[in-house]
Amino acid sequence: MSALPFDGNTIAPETRTFLAQPHKLLIDGRWVDAHGGRDHVTLDPATGLELARFQVGDARDVDDAVAAACRAFPAWAALSAGHRAALLFRLARVMEAHAGLLAELDVIDNGMPVGIARLTVANCIEMVDYYAGAVLRIEGTTMPPPRHIADTGEALTYTLREPVGVAGLIVPWNVPLSTAILKLAPALAAGCTAVIKPSEETPLSLLALGDMILEAGLPAGVVNIVNGFGADAGAALAEHPRVDKISFTGSTATGRRIVQAALGNLKKVSLELGGKSPVVVMPDADLAVAVPGVAMATFFLQGQNCMAGTRIYVHAGIHDRLLEGLAAFAAQMVLGHGLSDATHQGPLISEAHRDKVLGHIARAEAEGARLVAGGRRVDRPGWFVEPTILADTRADMAIEREEVFGPVMAVRRFDTLDLDVIAAMANESIYGLSGSVWTRDLATAHRLVARIRSGHVSINTHGAVGTNVPFGGYGQSGWGREFGKDGLDAFLETKAVTVRL
Ligand code: NAD
Repeated sequence: MSALPFDGNTIAPETRTFLAQPHKLLIDGRWVDAHGGRDHVTLDPATGLELARFQVGDARDVDDAVAAACRAFPAWAALSAGHRAALLFRLARVMEAHAGLLAELDVIDNGMPVGIARLTVANCIEMVDYYAGAVLRIEGTTMPPPRHIADTGEALTYTLREPVGVAGLIVPWNVPLSTAILKLAPALAAGCTAVIKPSEETPLSLLALGDMILEAGLPAGVVNIVNGFGADAGAALAEHPRVDKISFTGSTATGRRIVQAALGNLKKVSLELGGKSPVVVMPDADLAVAVPGVAMATFFLQGQNCMAGTRIYVHAGIHDRLLEGLAAFAAQMVLGHGLSDATHQGPLISEAHRDKVLGHIARAEAEGARLVAGGRRVDRPGWFVEPTILADTRADMAIEREEVFGPVMAVRRFDTLDLDVIAAMANESIYGLSGSVWTRDLATAHRLVARIRSGHVSINTHGAVGTNVPFGGYGQSGWGREFGKDGLDAFLETKAVTVRL
């Protein structure tokens, strides 16, 4: 079957113009050519067709970008809070004016449905506004001075909050704009300057953001963008001796490499990594809420979602009815190009990733899981996998242990009401990023939540993240928190000062 551009859907003239322009590196306030003269192509995963070519940087470009960020740092850090806040508010307004472009780029580059992309962009704008406002709330504290000073006269001790310095921001492809804004907005609010490395799979929305950063009038060098591959541009940024902090979102395997690379100058590291989150459905759950809620815990963003709930533990008293509802939900999902309003689920990011997801499904069946829905690739251009439900899974199966990062859920039946036993199942994972509990009994819900080892657990909903809600992982899901006040703290140092008066 041959593919039509965008499956015959239209894109806005602004998006068309953006795609046709050269895509370079943003260093020191200018779009520049990469030293190595290399470029790479980004594809529409819903059709497999080329969207654009973009230049890719290496260690030399990262060096230039870090040098620019170092030069820009003193003035940006010293800017009055009001001035820095005003520039960030202006950036939010520029993003608002180009919100359609940002959303369409994430749809065609990543494959996500347009409704989700619009929501994501709106959340990103809210996030920039939130951290712009937060600039004026960066505050230290006062405390009694140490006794050996205070005993000899009057004294004062207080703390200052200061920016960590130059921040390297390395982001994945699954929610390209949002994973970057989650880092960039608090970094800039804190007074850090930044070098961003977008994913080589999805550079476009961040390159468009680069234009918006220039339009908003942020000083040269405050934000630099170096496209490139993980093994060269990414690794060079992670190990760079003049980078003070790395904030990374991506796989747990790459997170380990980032930590190793950071050892050289002991730079600060924040990590938002993988997940394999539990979803516990108790026998009294409201099926009208639980069926769509549990289904979308897995299938949201094609399952390419770090907080996806993919280990579904269901009490025997409701198991068959829930499974039937989930299968019916999966069957009515419309797969297609993200630009179509009718689409519920788009493609996976690449052919290689699609094949990896299919491999997980085949292995689960070989290990004894029962295929209840989906399980196949879709016979059309692009890299689609049907929403897939595997039942009768066990703790020893890879499908319950490994992050699939695709639309695949593993359902296991249990027949106890002992919350310690149920929580022990939910905690059978190296990860601890998200999770949810479905029951009408709120006392049971809160008792279970208290027993689940995870950074974010929801009751009768899943993955309810928000601008001001801290998010991050227990276990091998990461170090530190993003969103809200915690997200800002990640880019601030605390300096204690004692004055003898
Ligand atoms: P990835 O780890 O392959 O790549 C992430 C980024 O790191 C990319 O920009 C890549 O180029 C770069 N990179 C790769 N190797 C590198 C190296 N050696 N040094 C420096 N940078 C390197 O992850 P991915 O496949 O792009 O994203 C999917 C993963 O991200 C999943 O595991 C998912 O759970 C995770 N994720 C986590 C969160 C969260 O908030 N916890 C959010 C989104 C995605």
